[in-house]
This record gives sequence, C-alpha cells and structure tokens, in this order.
Amino acid sequence: MQQTAFCYRCGSNHPIEEMRQILTKSGKRLRCIISIEAAKVGKDVREAYGRLETESNKATSKFNKSFKQT
Ligand SMILES: [Zn+2]
Repeated sequence: MQQTAFCYRCGSNHPIEEMRQILTKSGKRLRCIISIEAAKVGKDVREAYGRLETESNKATSKFNKSFKQT
C-alpha cells in the first residue's frame, strides 16, 4: 500500500514522495510539490503581470502628457 500524507494546502492526502515539509507561521506542515510549484508559477505570472501593468501605465501617462502639450 502506498504511503500518503495529509496536505494542508489541498486538504487531501498525497503520496508521501510528493510531499515536502515546509515551515509556516503555525509550524512545520506537509505540502505537496504540486501546490508548491503551482504557487511559484502563480507568483511569477503575477509579477510579470504587475511589471506589464506598470509599463503600460507609464506609457499611458506619457501619451497623455504629450497629447495635452499639442
Ligand atoms: Zn496538495
């Protein structure tokens, strides 16, 4: 029988070899690598989107300035 462990992130059990012990505010918890990877990807996407947003805001205000001058 496959050994499983409870994943606090998913709220379900995963095979123990897919689990990583991580330190949270409330102590050591077991979390699956799937949710860790998913969180990492999500963070990267958010950061990339944030940069894009900042750039487009800059471009917009630049455009608005030059538009007002003319
Ligand atoms: Zn999980």
